[in-house]
Amino acid sequence: MRNTTYTETSVIEVMKGSLEWINRCKLFILDIDGTFYLSGKPFNGSKLFYETLLKTGRKLVFLTNNSNRSINSYLEEFRELGFELTREQIVTAGIATAEYLFEEFGPKRVYVVGTEEIKDEFRRVGHILVEDEPEIVVVTFDLTLTYEKIKKATIFVSRGALFVVTNPDLNCPSIDGPLPDAGAIASVIRKASGVYPNIVFGKPEPKLIDMIIRRHALSPNETCVVGDRIYTDILAGIRSGTFTVLVLTGEATAEDGLHGPVKPHLIVQDIGILAKFIS
Ligand SMILES: [Mg+2]
Repeated sequence: MRNTTYTETSVIEVMKGSLEWINRCKLFILDIDGTFYLSGKPFNGSKLFYETLLKTGRKLVFLTNNSNRSINSYLEEFRELGFELTREQIVTAGIATAEYLFEEFGPKRVYVVGTEEIKDEFRRVGHILVEDEPEIVVVTFDLTLTYEKIKKATIFVSRGALFVVTNPDLNCPSIDGPLPDAGAIASVIRKASGVYPNIVFGKPEPKLIDMIIRRHALSPNETCVVGDRIYTDILAGIRSGTFTVLVLTGEATAEDGLHGPVKPHLIVQDIGILAKFIS
């Protein structure tokens, strides 16, 4: 039996009463691509959502599985779009992976399949980046991918290097269509080497959401995770015990949210519609 009520065509309460629950949330953890904007262009309701959170004194943190960009590049981009954010308001899977690996294993020899921007972030955290005999191979969303990099990573993991993937996404939505993301790149290395990744970071791994909630000294039931993907955003929120909202501006359809194995609490057309229920 499904508890589904349609309050208006653009809002579906998958869990009855979820529109009331939304107002108890003090922290909103928002996905970026397909949720706040697409290819750097904010959706119509994004400004209203941002202003509503500001006006009602709620906290906003962006959590993206993106693994090829620095925090600074996000801060600059948001500033140009008219949104002033602090460093603490941006959490990316790429940088969180670098920090986690350093905390867990200390300085190691790391081969990064990635852009120069993300390599710099790995160095900044304290890793030693190498081109030969790495102890760890990290696969990211590499917009500068070459056959040479795939070849090296395949050989290194087959020789026993720890195989780490920053995020499981198979593709990243763009105006032109889906772009192959870290999960797709890692699958080539996995198939070629026969070695499965040892660690896959990013959503739906709940570590990042737990960390953000702790930083704000809140509890999961005061937190709302908003995203356009069920198998990353929504699943991560559910694993962390938060309230979850699926938006239809990216990958998933309402059908996916209603009939798939993982169900969000609430489905809204976009975050502008969601803003109308926050007071
Ligand atoms: Mg997304």
